[in-house]
Amino acid sequence: MIVLAVESSAHTFGIGIFDGKKILANARDIFSTEQGGMIPNEVAKHHMAVKEKVLVEALKEAKLTMKDIDLISYTQGPGLAPALLVGRDFALALAKEYKKKLLGVNHIAAHLEIGLFCTGAKDPIFLFCSGANTQVIVHEDKYRVFGEALSIAVGNAFDKFAREIGLGFPGGPKIEELAKKGKYVALPYSVKGMDVDFSGIVTRATQLYKKGIAKEDLCFSLQETCFAMLIEVTERALAHCEKKEVLLIGGVAANKRFSEMLEVMCKQRGAKAFTVPLEYAGDQGAMIAYQGWLEKKREQKEFDINPKWRVDEVETFWK
Ligand code: AMP
Ligand code: MG
Repeated sequence: MIVLAVESSAHTFGIGIFDGKKILANARDIFSTEQGGMIPNEVAKHHMAVKEKVLVEALKEAKLTMKDIDLISYTQGPGLAPALLVGRDFALALAKEYKKKLLGVNHIAAHLEIGLFCTGAKDPIFLFCSGANTQVIVHEDKYRVFGEALSIAVGNAFDKFAREIGLGFPGGPKIEELAKKGKYVALPYSVKGMDVDFSGIVTRATQLYKKGIAKEDLCFSLQETCFAMLIEVTERALAHCEKKEVLLIGGVAANKRFSEMLEVMCKQRGAKAFTVPLEYAGDQGAMIAYQGWLEKKREQKEFDINPKWRVDEVETFWK
């Protein structure tokens, strides 16, 4: 069975194709700015402008036509409503035109599952760090969220600070580059039980920037502090659940320093650290196609969007 999928929940418009064994295509076009952040209506305009082009690219990469596709899946949520609507409408139109079955899937479940698929991790503590979400998750009878960011997600914290210091969107990769030349300055460390809070750190780092502390030092310290907080709660989840694996996923998993720190902690605990490969770290269509394939037996009649759909509300019948 060949699944074609549409991802549009945030900055990325992606089309992925999965054939039940391997990923045949993972085409995408990412909204970015030189300055300023992500405005939902502008992201939606971007997606409208690139959707046909990305579809053509994906089919070409897979050497297929729409006739070869058996099922279409799309990101139903969570995400930015205007952006989700573009993807839903596109998927619905394709399903109608080519008479294909359609399924809306959860974007976070797709991040977790593609992480398992790519790394071979079996039953990990998921450390999911993206632009909009930061959660420590374990699968029991469903996905359970053990801890999460109370205000803004870690990716969002990086993007926000990058915006404050004029780096544009997405900020994470630029912060990682600058951090290589930085040294440590103290920033607030905010862990509350199993939860983490990043908003105060961004405020303090911005204040220090305005006082003349070097960008490089602030980028380095922001990374060290945020990652240490995340690894602390992950370590607690690992001990509590008696698991032996941690899987780092989501766009922030692209950060080399982050996976390095995670590996050190796991080694000390006799656990194994997995990091999703770069291509499948951030948002992309392949993970939505894979998720559609996992859920292929499900029937769906209403094709809405669900911008606030939490991963712990997902029925994980395919597990
Ligand atoms: P996602 O929402 O999963 O696509 O992830 C996007 C988020 O990942 C954005 O907030 C980016 O700033 C962040 N990100 C991407 N690459 C890196 C990196 N190398 N270091 C830190 N954050 C990153
Ligand atoms: Mg995402």
